[in-house]
Amino acid sequence: MYRIGVDLGGTKTEGVLVDEEFQVIEKKRVPTNQTNGYESILNTIQDLVNDLKKNNEKTSIGVCTPGALSKESGLIKNSNTQCLIGKDLKNDLEKILDQEISIENDANCFALAEARLGAAKNNDTVFGVIMGTGVGGGLVISGKIHTGRTNIAGEWGHHCIRPNGNECYCGRKGCVETYISGPALEKKWNELTNQNTSVSDIVKNSQEDAYKTWKNEFLENFGLSLANVIDILDPDAIVLGGGLSNIPFLYDEGKNLVYENVFSDTVDTPILQNQLGDSAGVFGACIL
Ligand SMILES: [Zn+2]
Repeated sequence: MYRIGVDLGGTKTEGVLVDEEFQVIEKKRVPTNQTNGYESILNTIQDLVNDLKKNNEKTSIGVCTPGALSKESGLIKNSNTQCLIGKDLKNDLEKILDQEISIENDANCFALAEARLGAAKNNDTVFGVIMGTGVGGGLVISGKIHTGRTNIAGEWGHHCIRPNGNECYCGRKGCVETYISGPALEKKWNELTNQNTSVSDIVKNSQEDAYKTWKNEFLENFGLSLANVIDILDPDAIVLGGGLSNIPFLYDEGKNLVYENVFSDTVDTPILQNQLGDSAGVFGACIL
C-alpha cells in the first residue's frame, strides 16, 4: 500500500507519495492560499492528494498541521495559520476525500519522522525539539507518538525556567520560549546592541563584545531547559529541528551545558541535528 503525506505550512503546502519503504515516488509543493480562508485550504489539500493519488486507489493519507489538536473536540487551536483555529480539519478532509485520514501537529510529525527515518533512527525514546519562531517538541516512544492525556506531551516551550523572568504571551513568566526562541534571542541582542539582527546574522558577529554575553546566556538557558527534559524523560536521543537547529555551537558547547545541568554523573544523551530538514513534516505525516 502506498502512503500520502501532506504538510500544511503557513506559506506552502507540500505533498509526497511514498511506497512501503518510504521511498519517494512523487513530491509536490504548492502555495498555501490563506487569504481565501479555510475553504481554499481544504481545496488545496484535496487537489494535492488527488494529484498524487492518480492510479493508486489504495493509499493512506496523513496530514501534518500547524497548531495543537484538542483531545476532546478534535478542533485545531493555537495555530499560526489563523483560519484553521476552531476547525475540525480531520472531519472536513475525510468528507471531501471520502476516506479516513490521520492528522497530527507539526512538532509531533517532526519527532516521528526523525525517530523512524532520520537522525534518531534505531532509538527507542526520542524527544524532537523545535526551536524557531516558537519552541515546541514531540515525544516518540517505540516508533509511536506519545500524545499524553491531554495532547500536550512534548510541549516544553512553556515550562518555567526563571520564576519572575521574562513575560510570555501565554500569561505566565519565565517560559523557555521567552529565552531560546528566535524572536527572544533577537530581542536580547537588541537590548545589548540596539541593533535589529536576525539570529543567523548574530552568530556571524562573533567578534563583537556583546556576542559573548548573548551566547553565554543563550547556552545557559538552552542547557537548563533541555536538562529538565532529560531529568524527566531520560530519552535515548534528542533531535533538534527548526531554524535555530542550524547553529553549530548547540551540538558541542550547548550539549555540555545540558549535561552540566542534568542530575546524573553518567549523562551521554545524543543531541543530534535533524536529517530530514524541511521534509520531516511530510514524512511524519506519511508514517502516522
Ligand atoms: Zn509561556
